[in-house]
Amino acid sequence: MTNQSTERLVVIGGGMAAVRFVEELVARSYAGTVTVLADEEHAPYNRILLSAVLEGTHNVDAITLRSAEWFAERGVDLRLGARVLEVDRDAAEVMLVDGTRIAFDRLVLATGSIPTLPPIRGLVRFDGSLHPRVHAFRSLADCERLDAEVGRLDEGARAVVVGGGLLGLQVARALSIRGLHTEIVEGAEHLLASQLGEPGGRVLARDLRRLGTDVYTGARAIRMSEEGVRLDNGYELSTDLIVLTAGGRPSTALARRAGLMVRRGVVVDSTLRSVTDDRIHAIGDCAEHRRRVTGFVPPAWEQAGVLADVLTGGFARYDGSRSVARLRATDLEVAVLGDPERATGEIVEMTNPIAGSHRRLVIEGGVIVAAALVGDLSRVGLITQLYDRGTVLGPDEPGQLLLGETAAEPAPLPDEAEVCACAGVTAGAIRGCASFDACRESTRATTGCGGCEPVVRRLLVEASAAPVAVPAG
Ligand SMILES: Cc1cc2nc3c(=O)[nH]c(=O)nc-3n(C[C@H](O)[C@H](O)[C@H](O)COP(=O)(O)OP(=O)(O)OC[C@H]3O[C@@H](n4cnc5c(N)ncnc54)[C@H](O)[C@@H]3O)c2cc1C
Repeated sequence: MTNQSTERLVVIGGGMAAVRFVEELVARSYAGTVTVLADEEHAPYNRILLSAVLEGTHNVDAITLRSAEWFAERGVDLRLGARVLEVDRDAAEVMLVDGTRIAFDRLVLATGSIPTLPPIRGLVRFDGSLHPRVHAFRSLADCERLDAEVGRLDEGARAVVVGGGLLGLQVARALSIRGLHTEIVEGAEHLLASQLGEPGGRVLARDLRRLGTDVYTGARAIRMSEEGVRLDNGYELSTDLIVLTAGGRPSTALARRAGLMVRRGVVVDSTLRSVTDDRIHAIGDCAEHRRRVTGFVPPAWEQAGVLADVLTGGFARYDGSRSVARLRATDLEVAVLGDPERATGEIVEMTNPIAGSHRRLVIEGGVIVAAALVGDLSRVGLITQLYDRGTVLGPDEPGQLLLGETAAEPAPLPDEAEVCACAGVTAGAIRGCASFDACRESTRATTGCGGCEPVVRRLLVEASAAPVAVPAG
């Protein structure tokens, strides 16, 4: 076992899990040396906000999580454009594509996920490249390429988004706001089929159509054609560009080749350690814990914190994460807690297609075990609190939670209520911060999906206006 002060820790991947992990190591004064090998050329950035870059509301600087200088000032060796080709467990080295070999005592895989290519004939050309009209949307490089293409097209040009999940909806909204006539093609019978049931999906489709985006559900794109793309229902959509957002899978090729146990992801225990090799760990989208892979920022950040604690001598354990998904797209509001389609319990549901809202609570033993909210998120804070705390509700309360289209004055949040689901920050921690910037820096609240920003700002304003207690005497 290496002494922590001489330990050479190598991280593969410079994405959202890796950055959080390094921040947590720094905060805990980790004593070894840290090298981050990141294949992307740009300093680590917030992937969730790529659609905001495409939409034009954020520039690249605004989504940068930590600059190269930040790493350098903390003695962390961040190597950008460094793609790892091989992990040699016998020699305890990793090899980069340029042949450089780097020794490790401890290795952390944070390689994220890769987009799945739907089976569309003509999508991939003989040389392995994508058809020139087709775009992936996973990295900043993808986003910049798509952005440049949108810039070249005339107003009113056409775009097809293949995949009606969270990412597809974000991209479709961004393209539509950029002035493209946008259509979504989704193979399932309704949108957001992994998160929502049919009524919620229908409300969303109606909202999208109202916002100018056409939606084809129960239809698969099967073949590239002269003018665009052909669907299995016989339709042909003529289009100037196609964006693939049909899901992803954990990026596990390195781990597999190194002989680590991989099912869907790299299999880890509750210390995020590979079950095959105790020098190697995996966090984020590439990790599989208790047969579950995640694919969202909150669990990736939770795992990063647990692993940093373990590697600095702490006793934290990862016990699986609550699943909280929030759609980040202009004029579309969706929040999903747990798994409202598969959780067992009594269902209390209300759909108002006219107002464009849908709410579903799954209640077991009086406790909210899952929820889906579409259209109106005025109650999301309260419902999340009740869900997090496992509060037992009276028989009328679930129904009351679903009523009230107009938000009443928000009730004061108790200190222990979680406000930022991505970084796990409570109202009390936010109230203790001197300013918005100080809060971002010390707690990382608002630096994930950003959905909590209005509440964080409100709490800080309220806290600064609150009377300061003056000692008597
Ligand atoms: C456009 C988009 C929108 C999203 N929106 C949301 C959202 O609203 N909410 C949410 O919770 N989640 C969202 N996600 C998912 C979220 O971004 C991921 O869950 C999160 O980024 C996982 O972090 P990670 O570090 O595991 O993976 P990533 O952030 O993907 O980082 C992995 C990094 O490793 C690099 N890498 C891979 N292999 C190698 C190698 N061999 N050598 C060197 N580097 C390598 C990759 O290039 C990448 O930079 C979104 C994802 C995308 C693409």
